[in-house]
Amino acid sequence: MAGGISRTFVAVKPDGVQRRLVGELVRRFERRGLTLVGMKLVQASEELLREHYGALRERPFYRQLLKYMSSGPVVAMVWQGLDVVKTVRTMIGETNPADSRPGTIRGDFCTDVTKNVIHGSDSVESARQEIALWFRPEELVCWEDAAEHWIY
Ligand code: ADP
Ligand code: MG
Repeated sequence: MAGGISRTFVAVKPDGVQRRLVGELVRRFERRGLTLVGMKLVQASEELLREHYGALRERPFYRQLLKYMSSGPVVAMVWQGLDVVKTVRTMIGETNPADSRPGTIRGDFCTDVTKNVIHGSDSVESARQEIALWFRPEELVCWEDAAEHWIY
């Protein structure tokens, strides 16, 4: 179902930060016409990551995932736009980079199923939960978008 303007949570994972990909990834979302409403560099605590990846705690790669996600800072972001959850997931590609087409972020920048550069919320409901987990309300800025008549 096509939605209206919504928000999604995106994080450049530690490998993306270490590989200096932050600018490239922000550039892709900006070029698409999405609106940045929150951004910060975070060394995620184990508690935060356990909450963030709670749905995966029974998976065999869970411990490896938490270790990787705490191996360095992540850039946490909130992007806003039309159908933004789906749009960002499409731009990111598949969980396994080997299944991700060239032109997607994972299809262009990685090969490892764990170290796959970026996170994006998988549904409107998980976006809502993840934004609330990673950001305080006052960290999200609703700025006057002078371009709102020609870009969404
Ligand atoms: P996505 O990030 O595409 O939403 P998931 O939510 O299923 O994927 O998994 C969260 C993260 O866990 C992935 O992005 C990846 O870093 C890691 N992961 C997922 N599946 C595997 C796997 N089979 N082996 C190792 N790591 C995995
Ligand atoms: Mg996921």
